Amino acid sequence: MAVKQTAGRDALGQFAPKFAQLNDDVLFGQVWSREDKLSLRDRSLVTVVALLSQGLVDSSFQYHLTCARQNGITRQEIAEILTHAAFYAGWPKAWAAFRMAKEVWTEDDAQDGKAQHQREMAFPIGAPNDGFAQYFVGQSYLHPLSTSQVGVYNVTFEPGCRNNWHIHQASSGGGQILICVAGRGYYQEEGSPARELHPGDVVNIPVGVKHWHGAAPDSWFSHLAVEVPGEQCSNQWLEPVSDEEYGKLN
Ligand code: MN
Repeated sequence: MAVKQTAGRDALGQFAPKFAQLNDDVLFGQVWSREDKLSLRDRSLVTVVALLSQGLVDSSFQYHLTCARQNGITRQEIAEILTHAAFYAGWPKAWAAFRMAKEVWTEDDAQDGKAQHQREMAFPIGAPNDGFAQYFVGQSYLHPLSTSQVGVYNVTFEPGCRNNWHIHQASSGGGQILICVAGRGYYQEEGSPARELHPGDVVNIPVGVKHWHGAAPDSWFSHLAVEVPGEQCSNQWLEPVSDEEYGKLN
């Protein structure tokens, strides 16, 4: 399919109609459009490096960075591309390019991670867990799956997020079951080493046991929290898991 481009005619259609036509119809309409020979992503990669190597970090470079992002080059990939090219094209040129690339890929950091995590999971991430935010370090999300018979909630932790030490209390029955559904996280009972959690892992948490659960420092994590039915159930929230304790993981 031909790439539609009007930048030439928009900017120079009156002043330089031949240049405009070559830009829009030949460079983009014919060369960029040969997707069966080389993908748009790869063409973007070549173009960005070619412009960078000339030290061209003007509006056309910004345009091509934006295209590169749209054509599927990720934040990690552009960082790798510019780092690699820096050795061949020149260090200061890469510095200038990084300043612009950082702007273009700016929102991708957090959103990419969350979107990627959602793609790995059947259950919705849900809304920010504002109701329990005071008992968490970092951002968590909550999506109720079942609020009758047995309460089941999908809890998602962004990297580094964990809940405070806490105890599930009940006069009979009660406790909590965690069913890990995506990402990588941890569960720790007081006095025991932390247990690393992966999708498919199940944790049975008895009443009266002081513990915390949350994400690994470098990974999103989701578990279903099942409220085991019982009498006089309550949660006793305690102190946060300190950075020092949490930092011993990994
Ligand atoms: Mn718990």
